[in-house]
Amino acid sequence: MRRVGKQRHLKHFGILVMLALLQFACGMPEMGKCESSLSAGRYLMSSDCRPLTWGYELPVPFVYGNSLSQDAIIAFNEAIDTWEKRTGIRLFSVIHENYPEYDGIEFNTNLNLIAFRSGPKWSQEPINGDPDKEPGKTVYYHDQNYLYNTDIHVNNGYALSLDGRPETFDLISIAVHELGHTLGLDHTDDPGSVMYPQIMPGQKRREPSPADIQAIRNVYLSILN
Ligand SMILES: [Zn+2]
Repeated sequence: MRRVGKQRHLKHFGILVMLALLQFACGMPEMGKCESSLSAGRYLMSSDCRPLTWGYELPVPFVYGNSLSQDAIIAFNEAIDTWEKRTGIRLFSVIHENYPEYDGIEFNTNLNLIAFRSGPKWSQEPINGDPDKEPGKTVYYHDQNYLYNTDIHVNNGYALSLDGRPETFDLISIAVHELGHTLGLDHTDDPGSVMYPQIMPGQKRREPSPADIQAIRNVYLSILN
């Protein structure tokens, strides 16, 4: 039976979840926290406190794992397009759209994988995350100077959507954020930045801020030119 005319007041509990980040460094041990003045806090840093980048190795080749939903593929395609259009740089290439993997576990760990991971397995390697707090996580690997492998995991234990409707997490916002990490961006405390580390259900944060765009251009244009 349908009730008509009665308005329901849904209390919004404001679930705030982290768009997280996890690093693995090779070679040199981390030498402690870098002075934020060196990077304005916007970049992932090398062991000697320089922004971590892919150097000349653009575009970054990604494979979409076969666990990804069609919506997630659309979201990542759109997020890639957004970053490239706003920065004017060819940043990513998708070299395979249905790559064999199992629940986000790679068979070939050299690939930059974008995949779903189910909630209960979110706490396992290499994510070791909290399934109730993280709708997405980028795991990144670097040597002394450069990023050489980044994998994006999306937690499909959450309700995810393409239209940011209430009670779901917006896939495009997640994709834009995690792709920012794969390029070498760290979190910021600017809520207008796509690199802000928290997102609410129903919230859309798809457009890189001018500072986000400039952060990418600052490092990659100087390398590429
Ligand atoms: Zn993040």
